[in-house]
Amino acid sequence: MQSTMMKDPLSLNHLLERAGKLFGGNEIVSRLPDKTLRRHSYGEYYRRTRALASALQALGLKKGDRVATLCWNHHAHLECYFGIPAAGGVMHTLNLRLAPREIGWIAGDAQDRFLVIDDVLLPLYRQFADLHRFEKVIVFPFSGAPVPAEFANYEALLEAADPEAFQYAPHDEDDPVAMCYTSGTTGRPKGVVYSHRSTVLHTLVASLADFWGLRGTDVVLPVTPMFHANSWGMPYGAVMMGVKLVFPGPHLHPDDLLDLIQQEPPTLSLGVPTIWMSLIQAFDAAQAADSPNHGRWKLPRGMRSLVGGAAVPEALIRAFDRHGIWILQGWGMTETSPVCTISYPRAELRGATADERYRRAATAGVPVPLVDLRVRGDGASDQPWDGKSVGEIQVRGPFITGSYYGIAAEAEKFTPDGWLRTGDVASVDPLGFVKISDRTKDLIKSGGEWISSVDLENAIMGHAAVAEAAVIAIPDEKWSERPLACVVLKPGRSAAAGEFDAHLLQHGFAKWQLPERYEFIDAVPRTSTGKFWKLKLRERFPK
Ligand code: ADP
Repeated sequence: MQSTMMKDPLSLNHLLERAGKLFGGNEIVSRLPDKTLRRHSYGEYYRRTRALASALQALGLKKGDRVATLCWNHHAHLECYFGIPAAGGVMHTLNLRLAPREIGWIAGDAQDRFLVIDDVLLPLYRQFADLHRFEKVIVFPFSGAPVPAEFANYEALLEAADPEAFQYAPHDEDDPVAMCYTSGTTGRPKGVVYSHRSTVLHTLVASLADFWGLRGTDVVLPVTPMFHANSWGMPYGAVMMGVKLVFPGPHLHPDDLLDLIQQEPPTLSLGVPTIWMSLIQAFDAAQAADSPNHGRWKLPRGMRSLVGGAAVPEALIRAFDRHGIWILQGWGMTETSPVCTISYPRAELRGATADERYRRAATAGVPVPLVDLRVRGDGASDQPWDGKSVGEIQVRGPFITGSYYGIAAEAEKFTPDGWLRTGDVASVDPLGFVKISDRTKDLIKSGGEWISSVDLENAIMGHAAVAEAAVIAIPDEKWSERPLACVVLKPGRSAAAGEFDAHLLQHGFAKWQLPERYEFIDAVPRTSTGKFWKLKLRERFPK
């Protein structure tokens, strides 16, 4: 048959060229280690990114070579996002929150050839340098201190390169552009490789009006680390639309984020629920007349906020809404680029009560275009979308990984008919809202019935005295498993277990679903990506 449209490959290079041509004047702001702000324009960004690509080629980078990054969120990291693929390389974002031996292992597994690293992270590099030898370590002088002589200087490389003469490496749309390892919360870290095609399609879908709704006038604050699942793909969307970016650099303490928000008020921000929880708690505490921070901060009314990576408690959505900030919840994984579902206000909910809208907002949302989603129970057929039947979420689509890097076949991660098994347990309601109740590893089975740890956590976090709560299963002779709630109280607050039971009963839980016990702890342990680390809690409370 005759072909129809042009076979122009989908390509990140197109997005970079577009930004250079159209958005020269828009700003990219980065917070430096000394907390000052560095500003530059997309025009500068374009030239610097091409200079980086040219410098990498001059260093001998070959098509498909991996270039690792170990960086905070800032402009140079954004240069790597486009500059490394432009040179034909694959950007491999290393997670700086992992233990040094894990970082070394991951760099070795990916056979990373070069490393781009923030100078402030060199002490971390020195702890794993023996585990993997990079051919070249390129240091970005983030703090402005002189770069030690044994390393290449990122700025010097860019200065010596000629961005005008740079030629993009010839490529096909299926060529790899980036890779990221799963964090290994539930197993050994595995590499996921993204292509030009998958990244462009993901960027287009995630940017749609009902999801990120990216507009040229937006000011975007990506708190989600750029080393975690592509910062949910926002760097690509931002360059595509030339939106103003405000990078927080290494300063993620709630006070620092609130200060940055005063200086550069965002219209859209992204982060995991734990960061947003600490932000609202710091803000609320500052409302007290005797607080040293009284009057220091305002929240930007009208800001949209994309929160995901872990279940978003309804109490958090309500708390921000009181300040005119609407939280959109997203669900996804490193394996899925990552956006798979987003909870957004649907036309069908136009006449719904406020309670109903909050309830939907506290779900993971509906599948985005190009993602096929099904829920499988024990049998071989799909669970009905009745809001009740639970099973494992399985997904398929052009930005869902089809394999893991260097692993011939990971049979238990894919179904025989080619769907990704996510390990997340959920139900889907008739409108397509996905409600995640657990990870398969976190399920609580009590007397033959499932109890959702996520539901319990969210309800407990709705109690006024609670800062955080995580629920795990403990073994039980009679019921096989029972829920144990680990609770962190807000400073200066106290509460007894009986109060929580009453609160849960009031919120529709049955008596048998109530936690067996409450443990009061100082903090919920976190994974490298800021999520509750239930494995650590299970180790601490084996029974
Ligand atoms: P890890 O959690 O192991 O670091 P990822 O960063 O890829 O791996 O996170 C993917 C997982 O995060 C999902 O499989 C799911 O368990 C959890 N997750 C992501 N978004 C949500 C959400 N909105 N609600 C509940 N869980 C979520």
